[in-house]
Amino acid sequence: MSAPLIGQYDPAMTGFMNETQARYRQVFRTQNAATMLIDGTSRAGIEAVLVSALRPGDRVLVPIFGRFGHLLAEIAQRAGADVHTIEVPWGEVFEPEQIEAAIRNVQPRMLAIVQGDTSTTMCQPLEELGAICRAHDVFFYTDATASIVGNDLRADDWQLDAVSVGLQKCLGGPSGSAPVTLSDRLVDWMRQRRKVEAGIRTEAHQDGSEPFIRSNYFDLPMILDYWGEERLNHHTEATTMLYGASECARLVIEEGLDQAIERHRQHGDAMLAGVQALGLKPFGDLNHKMNNVVGVAIPDSVDGDTVRAQMLTDFGIEIGTSFGPLHGKIWRIGTMGYNARKSAVLQTLSCLDNCLAVNGYRGPRGEAVQAALESYAHA
Ligand SMILES: *Cc1c(COP(=O)(O)O)cnc(C)c1O
Repeated sequence: MSAPLIGQYDPAMTGFMNETQARYRQVFRTQNAATMLIDGTSRAGIEAVLVSALRPGDRVLVPIFGRFGHLLAEIAQRAGADVHTIEVPWGEVFEPEQIEAAIRNVQPRMLAIVQGDTSTTMCQPLEELGAICRAHDVFFYTDATASIVGNDLRADDWQLDAVSVGLQKCLGGPSGSAPVTLSDRLVDWMRQRRKVEAGIRTEAHQDGSEPFIRSNYFDLPMILDYWGEERLNHHTEATTMLYGASECARLVIEEGLDQAIERHRQHGDAMLAGVQALGLKPFGDLNHKMNNVVGVAIPDSVDGDTVRAQMLTDFGIEIGTSFGPLHGKIWRIGTMGYNARKSAVLQTLSCLDNCLAVNGYRGPRGEAVQAALESYAHA
Protein backbone atom coordinates (compact mmCIF):
# COMPACT_ATOMS: atom_id res chain seq x y z
CA MET A 1 0.00 0.00 0.00
CA SER A 2 3.04 2.29 0.13
CA ALA A 3 3.62 1.79 -3.62
CA PRO A 4 3.59 5.02 -5.64
CA LEU A 5 0.25 6.45 -6.77
CA ILE A 6 -0.40 6.49 -10.50
CA GLY A 7 -3.09 8.05 -12.69
CA GLN A 8 -6.28 6.10 -13.18
CA TYR A 9 -5.84 5.71 -16.96
CA ASP A 10 -2.18 4.79 -16.78
CA PRO A 11 -1.92 1.43 -18.58
CA ALA A 12 -0.24 0.08 -15.46
CA MET A 13 -3.30 1.08 -13.42
CA THR A 14 -5.80 -0.57 -15.77
CA GLY A 15 -3.52 -3.62 -15.63
CA PHE A 16 -3.68 -3.61 -11.82
CA MET A 17 -7.47 -3.35 -11.96
CA ASN A 18 -7.70 -6.34 -14.31
CA GLU A 19 -5.31 -8.34 -12.15
CA THR A 20 -7.31 -7.54 -9.02
CA GLN A 21 -10.52 -8.69 -10.72
CA ALA A 22 -8.88 -11.96 -11.75
CA ARG A 23 -7.65 -12.56 -8.20
CA TYR A 24 -11.05 -11.93 -6.64
CA ARG A 25 -12.68 -14.31 -9.12
CA GLN A 26 -10.50 -16.98 -7.50
CA VAL A 27 -11.36 -15.86 -3.96
CA PHE A 28 -15.11 -15.88 -4.75
CA ARG A 29 -14.74 -19.09 -6.78
CA THR A 30 -16.52 -17.55 -9.75
CA GLN A 31 -16.24 -16.91 -13.46
CA ASN A 32 -18.33 -13.74 -13.17
CA ALA A 33 -17.01 -10.99 -15.42
CA ALA A 34 -18.60 -8.51 -13.00
CA THR A 35 -16.12 -8.89 -10.15
CA MET A 36 -14.63 -5.65 -8.86
CA LEU A 37 -13.99 -3.42 -5.86
CA ILE A 38 -16.41 -0.90 -4.40
CA ASP A 39 -14.50 1.94 -2.75
CA GLY A 40 -15.62 2.06 0.87
CA THR A 41 -15.91 -0.35 3.78
CA SER A 42 -17.92 -3.58 3.57
CA ARG A 43 -21.22 -1.80 3.99
CA ALA A 44 -20.50 0.18 0.83
CA GLY A 45 -20.56 -3.18 -0.96
CA ILE A 46 -23.84 -4.11 0.71
CA GLU A 47 -25.40 -0.77 -0.17
CA ALA A 48 -24.16 -0.93 -3.78
CA VAL A 49 -25.78 -4.34 -4.30
CA LEU A 50 -29.08 -3.51 -2.64
CA VAL A 51 -29.55 -0.02 -4.04
CA SER A 52 -28.64 -1.16 -7.56
CA ALA A 53 -30.69 -4.37 -7.60
CA LEU A 54 -33.83 -3.10 -5.88
CA ARG A 55 -36.26 -0.35 -6.87
CA PRO A 56 -38.90 1.19 -4.65
CA GLY A 57 -41.59 -1.40 -4.05
CA ASP A 58 -39.49 -4.43 -4.98
CA ARG A 59 -40.01 -7.19 -2.46
CA VAL A 60 -36.94 -8.54 -0.70
CA LEU A 61 -36.76 -11.35 1.85
CA VAL A 62 -34.15 -10.96 4.62
CA PRO A 63 -33.81 -13.92 7.00
CA ILE A 64 -32.26 -12.46 10.18
CA PHE A 65 -30.12 -14.43 12.64
CA GLY A 66 -28.02 -11.59 14.08
CA ARG A 67 -27.13 -7.93 13.93
CA PHE A 68 -25.96 -7.88 10.32
CA GLY A 69 -29.26 -9.30 9.08
CA HIS A 70 -30.91 -6.23 10.60
CA LEU A 71 -28.38 -4.10 8.71
CA LEU A 72 -29.32 -5.71 5.37
CA ALA A 73 -33.00 -5.10 6.14
CA GLU A 74 -32.34 -1.47 7.05
CA ILE A 75 -30.31 -0.73 3.93
CA ALA A 76 -32.94 -2.42 1.71
CA GLN A 77 -35.62 -0.33 3.43
CA ARG A 78 -33.71 2.87 2.73
CA ALA A 79 -33.51 1.79 -0.92
CA GLY A 80 -37.31 1.89 -0.83
CA ALA A 81 -37.77 -1.88 -1.09
CA ASP A 82 -40.71 -3.72 0.41
CA VAL A 83 -38.75 -5.62 3.07
CA HIS A 84 -39.99 -8.89 4.57
CA THR A 85 -38.05 -10.54 7.38
CA ILE A 86 -38.08 -13.88 9.17
CA GLU A 87 -36.04 -14.49 12.31
CA VAL A 88 -34.55 -17.30 14.36
CA PRO A 89 -33.20 -16.80 17.90
CA TRP A 90 -29.60 -15.55 18.06
CA GLY A 91 -27.25 -18.53 18.18
CA GLU A 92 -29.20 -20.48 15.53
CA VAL A 93 -29.35 -20.58 11.72
CA PHE A 94 -32.17 -21.24 9.22
CA GLU A 95 -33.15 -24.57 7.66
CA PRO A 96 -33.50 -24.35 3.85
CA GLU A 97 -37.18 -25.38 4.20
CA GLN A 98 -37.91 -22.35 6.38
CA ILE A 99 -36.43 -20.07 3.76
CA GLU A 100 -38.23 -21.79 0.90
CA ALA A 101 -41.56 -21.51 2.72
CA ALA A 102 -40.96 -17.77 3.22
CA ILE A 103 -40.01 -17.36 -0.46
CA ARG A 104 -43.30 -19.03 -1.50
CA ASN A 105 -45.16 -16.75 0.82
CA VAL A 106 -43.44 -13.43 0.04
CA GLN A 107 -42.47 -14.02 -3.63
CA PRO A 108 -39.56 -11.63 -3.39
CA ARG A 109 -37.37 -10.26 -6.17
CA MET A 110 -34.33 -11.03 -4.00
CA LEU A 111 -33.20 -13.13 -1.06
CA ALA A 112 -30.62 -11.19 0.97
CA ILE A 113 -28.88 -13.11 3.75
CA VAL A 114 -25.67 -12.86 5.75
CA GLN A 115 -23.34 -15.88 5.58
CA GLY A 116 -21.32 -15.43 8.78
CA ASP A 117 -23.05 -13.11 11.25
CA THR A 118 -20.18 -12.09 13.52
CA SER A 119 -22.60 -10.80 16.15
CA THR A 120 -23.66 -14.37 16.97
CA THR A 121 -20.65 -16.26 15.44
CA MET A 122 -23.11 -18.38 13.40
CA CYS A 123 -22.47 -19.42 9.79
CA GLN A 124 -25.62 -19.89 7.69
CA PRO A 125 -25.37 -22.84 5.25
CA LEU A 126 -25.96 -21.43 1.77
CA GLU A 127 -25.33 -24.36 -0.56
CA GLU A 128 -28.97 -25.41 -0.87
CA LEU A 129 -30.42 -21.93 -1.20
CA GLY A 130 -29.22 -21.22 -4.74
CA ALA A 131 -31.36 -23.95 -6.31
CA ILE A 132 -34.37 -22.78 -4.28
CA CYS A 133 -33.86 -19.22 -5.51
CA ARG A 134 -33.55 -20.33 -9.15
CA ALA A 135 -36.70 -22.46 -8.87
CA HIS A 136 -38.64 -19.40 -7.70
CA ASP A 137 -36.88 -16.89 -9.98
CA VAL A 138 -35.37 -14.96 -7.08
CA PHE A 139 -31.97 -13.23 -7.04
CA PHE A 140 -29.68 -14.61 -4.33
CA TYR A 141 -27.34 -12.23 -2.47
CA THR A 142 -25.10 -12.82 0.52
CA ASP A 143 -22.91 -10.58 2.68
CA ALA A 144 -19.89 -12.82 3.30
CA THR A 145 -17.68 -10.13 4.82
CA ALA A 146 -16.87 -12.02 8.00
CA SER A 147 -16.86 -15.53 6.59
CA ILE A 148 -14.96 -15.45 3.30
CA VAL A 149 -11.55 -17.18 3.34
CA GLY A 150 -12.30 -18.59 6.83
CA ASN A 151 -15.25 -20.72 5.72
CA ASP A 152 -16.26 -22.29 2.42
CA LEU A 153 -17.95 -19.98 -0.09
CA ARG A 154 -18.60 -20.96 -3.72
CA ALA A 155 -20.32 -18.21 -5.66
CA ASP A 156 -20.86 -20.21 -8.87
CA ASP A 157 -21.53 -23.69 -7.44
CA TRP A 158 -24.02 -22.21 -5.00
CA GLN A 159 -25.68 -20.12 -7.73
CA LEU A 160 -25.20 -16.82 -5.97
CA ASP A 161 -26.16 -13.70 -7.92
CA ALA A 162 -24.27 -11.29 -5.70
CA VAL A 163 -21.67 -11.53 -2.97
CA SER A 164 -20.09 -8.60 -1.16
CA VAL A 165 -17.22 -8.71 1.32
CA GLY A 166 -14.59 -6.55 3.03
CA LEU A 167 -10.90 -6.94 3.73
CA GLN A 168 -10.68 -6.66 7.50
CA LYS A 169 -11.78 -10.14 8.58
CA CYS A 170 -10.16 -13.32 7.23
CA LEU A 171 -8.66 -11.53 4.22
CA GLY A 172 -6.43 -9.87 6.80
CA GLY A 173 -6.32 -6.37 5.31
CA PRO A 174 -7.37 -2.86 6.32
CA SER A 175 -11.00 -1.79 6.14
CA GLY A 176 -11.85 0.45 3.19
CA SER A 177 -12.41 -1.72 0.14
CA ALA A 178 -15.39 -3.94 -0.64
CA PRO A 179 -14.86 -6.68 -3.25
CA VAL A 180 -18.15 -7.59 -4.97
CA THR A 181 -19.13 -10.18 -7.57
CA LEU A 182 -22.36 -10.24 -9.64
CA SER A 183 -23.82 -12.97 -11.85
CA ASP A 184 -24.47 -12.24 -15.52
CA ARG A 185 -28.19 -12.63 -14.97
CA LEU A 186 -28.25 -9.97 -12.24
CA VAL A 187 -26.11 -7.61 -14.34
CA ASP A 188 -28.44 -8.13 -17.34
CA TRP A 189 -31.45 -7.38 -15.18
CA MET A 190 -29.89 -4.18 -13.80
CA ARG A 191 -28.92 -3.02 -17.30
CA GLN A 192 -32.34 -3.82 -18.75
CA ARG A 193 -33.99 -1.72 -16.15
CA ARG A 194 -31.69 1.19 -16.78
CA LYS A 195 -32.34 1.27 -20.52
CA VAL A 196 -35.44 3.34 -19.98
CA GLU A 197 -33.12 6.26 -19.40
CA ALA A 198 -32.36 6.17 -23.10
CA GLY A 199 -36.11 6.15 -23.78
CA ILE A 200 -36.30 2.43 -24.49
CA ARG A 201 -38.97 0.72 -22.45
CA THR A 202 -38.32 -2.96 -22.01
CA GLU A 203 -40.32 -5.74 -20.43
CA ALA A 204 -38.27 -5.33 -17.31
CA HIS A 205 -40.09 -2.15 -16.34
CA GLN A 206 -43.56 -2.81 -17.67
CA ASP A 207 -44.23 -2.96 -13.95
CA GLY A 208 -43.75 0.83 -13.84
CA SER A 209 -40.53 0.62 -11.87
CA GLU A 210 -38.17 3.58 -11.73
CA PRO A 211 -35.46 3.72 -14.37
CA PHE A 212 -32.87 5.31 -12.11
CA ILE A 213 -30.74 3.73 -9.48
CA ARG A 214 -31.13 6.01 -6.48
CA SER A 215 -27.45 6.47 -5.97
CA ASN A 216 -24.78 7.70 -8.31
CA TYR A 217 -21.78 6.52 -6.29
CA PHE A 218 -23.19 3.01 -5.86
CA ASP A 219 -24.72 2.63 -9.33
CA LEU A 220 -23.31 -0.80 -10.20
CA PRO A 221 -23.96 -0.68 -13.98
CA MET A 222 -22.00 2.60 -14.09
CA ILE A 223 -19.24 1.14 -11.90
CA LEU A 224 -19.10 -1.88 -14.22
CA ASP A 225 -18.64 0.38 -17.24
CA TYR A 226 -15.69 1.85 -15.38
CA TRP A 227 -14.11 -1.53 -14.54
CA GLY A 228 -15.02 -3.03 -17.90
CA GLU A 229 -13.53 -2.48 -21.34
CA GLU A 230 -15.38 0.81 -21.82
CA ARG A 231 -13.37 2.42 -18.98
CA LEU A 232 -16.01 5.13 -18.68
CA ASN A 233 -14.99 7.49 -15.94
CA HIS A 234 -17.10 7.13 -12.82
CA HIS A 235 -15.07 7.92 -9.69
CA THR A 236 -11.31 8.04 -9.20
CA GLU A 237 -10.31 4.56 -8.12
CA ALA A 238 -8.88 4.51 -4.55
CA THR A 239 -5.42 3.46 -5.71
CA THR A 240 -3.90 2.64 -2.35
CA MET A 241 -6.87 0.50 -1.31
CA LEU A 242 -6.71 -1.27 -4.67
CA TYR A 243 -3.10 -2.20 -3.96
CA GLY A 244 -4.10 -3.47 -0.50
CA ALA A 245 -7.12 -5.44 -1.72
CA SER A 246 -5.11 -7.00 -4.50
CA GLU A 247 -2.34 -8.05 -2.13
CA CYS A 248 -4.85 -9.62 0.30
CA ALA A 249 -6.17 -11.80 -2.52
CA ARG A 250 -2.67 -12.58 -3.80
CA LEU A 251 -1.60 -13.89 -0.39
CA VAL A 252 -4.69 -16.09 -0.07
CA ILE A 253 -4.13 -17.52 -3.55
CA GLU A 254 -0.46 -18.12 -2.77
CA GLU A 255 -1.43 -20.01 0.41
CA GLY A 256 -4.28 -21.78 -1.40
CA LEU A 257 -7.93 -20.99 -0.64
CA ASP A 258 -8.63 -24.48 0.73
CA GLN A 259 -5.52 -24.27 2.91
CA ALA A 260 -6.54 -20.86 4.24
CA ILE A 261 -10.00 -22.16 5.19
CA GLU A 262 -8.42 -25.23 6.81
CA ARG A 263 -6.03 -22.97 8.76
CA HIS A 264 -8.99 -21.01 10.12
CA ARG A 265 -10.71 -24.25 11.06
CA GLN A 266 -7.69 -25.61 12.93
CA HIS A 267 -7.00 -22.47 14.92
CA GLY A 268 -10.70 -21.90 15.56
CA ASP A 269 -11.02 -25.46 16.90
CA ALA A 270 -7.98 -24.98 19.15
CA MET A 271 -9.44 -21.75 20.55
CA LEU A 272 -12.76 -23.49 21.19
CA ALA A 273 -11.04 -26.38 22.97
CA GLY A 274 -9.08 -23.89 25.08
CA VAL A 275 -12.05 -21.84 26.27
CA GLN A 276 -13.97 -25.03 27.06
CA ALA A 277 -11.01 -26.24 29.16
CA LEU A 278 -11.29 -22.97 31.09
CA GLY A 279 -14.82 -24.03 32.01
CA LEU A 280 -16.34 -21.33 29.78
CA LYS A 281 -19.53 -22.10 27.87
CA PRO A 282 -19.38 -21.46 24.12
CA PHE A 283 -22.36 -19.60 22.66
CA GLY A 284 -24.81 -20.94 20.10
CA ASP A 285 -25.14 -24.01 17.91
CA LEU A 286 -21.58 -25.33 17.62
CA ASN A 287 -22.48 -27.28 14.46
CA HIS A 288 -22.91 -23.93 12.73
CA LYS A 289 -20.15 -21.89 14.35
CA MET A 290 -17.94 -19.87 12.01
CA ASN A 291 -14.37 -21.19 12.01
CA ASN A 292 -12.90 -17.79 12.73
CA VAL A 293 -14.67 -16.58 15.85
CA VAL A 294 -16.03 -18.10 19.05
CA GLY A 295 -18.59 -16.58 21.42
CA VAL A 296 -18.18 -17.44 25.11
CA ALA A 297 -20.60 -16.76 27.94
CA ILE A 298 -19.09 -14.31 30.42
CA PRO A 299 -19.04 -16.11 33.79
CA ASP A 300 -21.26 -14.53 36.46
CA SER A 301 -18.33 -14.16 38.84
CA VAL A 302 -16.40 -11.68 36.65
CA ASP A 303 -17.03 -8.28 35.11
CA GLY A 304 -16.76 -8.72 31.34
CA ASP A 305 -15.48 -5.24 30.54
CA THR A 306 -12.81 -5.35 33.28
CA VAL A 307 -11.41 -8.60 31.88
CA ARG A 308 -11.46 -7.20 28.34
CA ALA A 309 -9.71 -4.01 29.44
CA GLN A 310 -7.02 -5.95 31.26
CA MET A 311 -6.46 -8.25 28.27
CA LEU A 312 -5.88 -5.14 26.17
CA THR A 313 -3.79 -2.99 28.52
CA ASP A 314 -1.65 -5.69 30.16
CA PHE A 315 -1.25 -8.08 27.24
CA GLY A 316 -2.07 -6.12 24.08
CA ILE A 317 -4.82 -8.59 23.14
CA GLU A 318 -8.24 -7.34 22.09
CA ILE A 319 -11.23 -9.62 22.50
CA GLY A 320 -14.68 -8.53 21.38
CA THR A 321 -17.76 -7.47 23.23
CA SER A 322 -21.14 -8.04 21.62
CA PHE A 323 -24.31 -6.31 20.54
CA GLY A 324 -28.03 -6.16 21.22
CA PRO A 325 -29.44 -9.06 23.20
CA LEU A 326 -25.94 -10.50 23.75
CA HIS A 327 -24.37 -7.31 25.08
CA GLY A 328 -22.65 -7.98 28.40
CA LYS A 329 -23.47 -11.69 28.06
CA ILE A 330 -20.77 -13.01 25.74
CA TRP A 331 -17.26 -12.16 24.61
CA ARG A 332 -16.27 -12.91 21.04
CA ILE A 333 -12.74 -14.13 20.41
CA GLY A 334 -11.51 -14.01 16.84
CA THR A 335 -8.92 -16.20 15.13
CA MET A 336 -8.88 -14.62 11.71
CA GLY A 337 -6.48 -13.46 9.05
CA TYR A 338 -3.00 -13.08 10.52
CA ASN A 339 -4.33 -14.08 13.95
CA ALA A 340 -5.33 -17.52 12.73
CA ARG A 341 -2.00 -18.88 13.94
CA LYS A 342 -0.80 -21.02 16.81
CA SER A 343 1.13 -18.42 18.80
CA ALA A 344 -1.83 -16.03 18.81
CA VAL A 345 -4.21 -18.76 20.00
CA LEU A 346 -1.88 -20.01 22.77
CA GLN A 347 -1.01 -16.53 24.02
CA THR A 348 -4.66 -15.46 24.08
CA LEU A 349 -5.67 -18.53 26.08
CA SER A 350 -2.79 -18.16 28.51
CA CYS A 351 -3.55 -14.48 29.11
CA LEU A 352 -7.28 -15.09 29.44
CA ASP A 353 -6.58 -17.82 32.00
CA ASN A 354 -4.58 -15.32 34.09
CA CYS A 355 -7.00 -12.41 33.67
CA LEU A 356 -9.91 -14.57 34.76
CA ALA A 357 -8.03 -15.76 37.84
CA VAL A 358 -7.09 -12.27 39.08
CA ASN A 359 -10.65 -11.07 38.50
CA GLY A 360 -12.28 -13.58 40.83
CA TYR A 361 -13.09 -16.48 38.51
CA ARG A 362 -13.01 -19.84 40.29
CA GLY A 363 -13.15 -22.23 37.31
CA PRO A 364 -10.43 -24.64 36.17
CA ARG A 365 -6.94 -23.11 35.80
CA GLY A 366 -3.90 -23.94 33.74
CA GLU A 367 -5.57 -26.32 31.30
CA ALA A 368 -6.48 -24.11 28.37
CA VAL A 369 -3.14 -24.11 26.58
CA GLN A 370 -2.85 -27.86 27.09
CA ALA A 371 -6.29 -28.42 25.56
CA ALA A 372 -5.41 -26.24 22.57
CA LEU A 373 -2.16 -28.14 22.04
CA GLU A 374 -4.10 -31.41 22.11
CA SER A 375 -6.55 -30.02 19.58
CA TYR A 376 -3.61 -29.23 17.26
CA ALA A 377 -2.17 -32.70 17.79
CA HIS A 378 -5.44 -34.24 16.59
CA ALA A 379 -6.11 -31.72 13.79
C1 LIG B 1 -17.69 -7.01 10.10
C2 LIG B 1 -18.86 -7.12 9.18
C3 LIG B 1 -19.22 -6.07 8.32
C4 LIG B 1 -18.41 -4.82 8.39
O1 LIG B 1 -18.88 -3.72 7.66
P1 LIG B 1 -17.91 -2.45 7.57
O2 LIG B 1 -18.65 -1.49 6.75
O3 LIG B 1 -16.62 -2.91 6.94
O4 LIG B 1 -17.67 -2.01 8.99
C5 LIG B 1 -20.30 -6.24 7.45
N1 LIG B 1 -20.99 -7.41 7.46
C6 LIG B 1 -20.68 -8.43 8.29
C7 LIG B 1 -21.46 -9.70 8.26
C8 LIG B 1 -19.61 -8.31 9.18
O5 LIG B 1 -19.30 -9.29 10.02
